[in-house]
Amino acid sequence: MRIPCAMIRDLLPLYAEKMVAPETEALIAAHLDECAACRQKLSEVEAGVEAPAVDASKPLQALKRELRRRRRCAAVIAALCVFVAVYTWFYHANAWKMVPWEEGLIEVAGIEERPYADVYGQEADADGSRGATAEALILRVDSRINGTQESKFKDDDGADTVLLRGWSTNNRGRFVRDYNEMALCPVPDRLIYEGSDRQQLLWGEPLDGGVETLPRLALGYYVLIAVVAAAVSGTTWFLLRGRDKSWMARQVFFAPMAWLGAHFLIKGGRTVSDFMERDFLSILLMAAALYALLSLAWQVLLRRRKEA
Ligand SMILES: [Zn+2]
Repeated sequence: MRIPCAMIRDLLPLYAEKMVAPETEALIAAHLDECAACRQKLSEVEAGVEAPAVDASKPLQALKRELRRRRRCAAVIAALCVFVAVYTWFYHANAWKMVPWEEGLIEVAGIEERPYADVYGQEADADGSRGATAEALILRVDSRINGTQESKFKDDDGADTVLLRGWSTNNRGRFVRDYNEMALCPVPDRLIYEGSDRQQLLWGEPLDGGVETLPRLALGYYVLIAVVAAAVSGTTWFLLRGRDKSWMARQVFFAPMAWLGAHFLIKGGRTVSDFMERDFLSILLMAAALYALLSLAWQVLLRRRKEA
């Protein structure tokens, strides 16, 4: 670890008098081995050219504070690296895959009255609806599906439509006849299962030409925005370099760079997402960690360069 010369020089009077702790003495000796300027200073101090510092404790405390700060900084950088690596591994080890449609994957069991709280959650009981019931569409879902995502919207013909997507983390094509129940409430006019390649109408009237689903390209737009933002802020930083406020441009530049790095870790080169919300939140989390990592690592680099 490189200690700034100014700190060493504050300590030299104490060092010359052998009034420092053994660890401090070792640090100073190591610095002196490599730094001719401070060796020169030491010989001046020893020759009595400079009077010893009056208050002996201040420079020592400053050195201790600086060492503590650097240890903390290194620990945070290490923790962020571990977090980024572990989360990236976790995301890919538990990647969600869409379960393709197959006969019997989901069956509509009919409409049933269900306690209000069962379908709307326990909070629904709070607003005076205790004991009330609501109509729900009951589905039997094969256990090959680990979870579902629903999107609700009004179709071209004005029908309330629910688009259902099933995901699995261990999608190995095994088909186990074991059902979970799922209740949709309120009952939609139309329910469609969306597999990876085709749609299956589960409930309601078919719509001519099928349901048009929005292309899930938002992640691609974010990448595009990040590339443009990185180019603009990177250029600004370059033009301002050396000036007082250039650190602001640098910090702005780190944000789109962190986003691009996070996108690459989570999605690789792909920008299409089947599970938009999950991917977006994962990228956001990674981007925040990478941003902190970039900022801290840059400060360490700057300090090294200044001290070298
Ligand atoms: Zn020095």
